[in-house]
Amino acid sequence: MSRIILALQSDKHAGHVVGLCNPATMLPADDEVGRPTPMPVALTPFQEALWEMYRQDVEAVLDFADGDKVIVFDCGDQTHGHKYPDNQMSNRVADQFIIARYNWEPWMRRSNVLTFRFAKGTGSHTFGEGSSEMILADMLSLAWQGLSIDVHYHGVAEVAQGIRIDYAHHGPGPGMRDWTNGNQVRYYIKSLVLEQRRIGKNPCQLYCRGHRHAFVHEALLSDYWDGELHDFHVFTLPSYCGMGAYGHQATFSAPYQWFGTVAVEIIDGEIGRFKPFVHCRDIRTWEELYE
Ligand SMILES: [Zn+2]
Repeated sequence: MSRIILALQSDKHAGHVVGLCNPATMLPADDEVGRPTPMPVALTPFQEALWEMYRQDVEAVLDFADGDKVIVFDCGDQTHGHKYPDNQMSNRVADQFIIARYNWEPWMRRSNVLTFRFAKGTGSHTFGEGSSEMILADMLSLAWQGLSIDVHYHGVAEVAQGIRIDYAHHGPGPGMRDWTNGNQVRYYIKSLVLEQRRIGKNPCQLYCRGHRHAFVHEALLSDYWDGELHDFHVFTLPSYCGMGAYGHQATFSAPYQWFGTVAVEIIDGEIGRFKPFVHCRDIRTWEELYE
């Protein structure tokens, strides 16, 4: 039996005060005569909770893999960038890369996790043209030998004979209303599949997108084409970043937020189980104002 696991995650926004940050991160500071002295980073309470979710999710994927090969796809915005100067952990650009590199620690030193593919995120969060993802790929390759890391705006990877995943940062949102949740994502995959056939190419079986910080799994199931039934799946990925002022504005004060990693099992060249290791959090502040 051949079995591999795909781990899909996105939007860690290193450097933001509610972005992902490993508590082991050390940032350089100078001592009294200018010698660089690594200093432990100070996490916000939100970041401590977020790191615990992330650490658990990586462990859950590794447990699910049970020693089988894992390929990690990160769909972009590994750093927060400097276009929006509010809520930064520091003003130094280099710090964002150091924090983002430490965020990969839980995946490292595992003999079954050697392949990583990064999608380039939004320019404003990645110092333009995917700079963050490109720099991080180099940093990780230098720090750990034997890794296969590549960066693309929009990648298609064949992960087993005939099984392909299409990954990119930007994609559809979850929908404006609860009763429309997922509709745009469903239209999106239907369109992608039809478009691929129209131009004479085989559609991918899996699609994943970041950017919207929202978890949606939609599918085009039992699609009859050329005498056979086909299934297609799309995931918009939750983030590992909380909401700052812009997030509350852009989501019209969404009361819930999702975080997590989606694992996809491929067995003997067929798609197996989907394991969404995700967390839904009520982000409102609840209180009782009576005696
Ligand atoms: Zn993002």
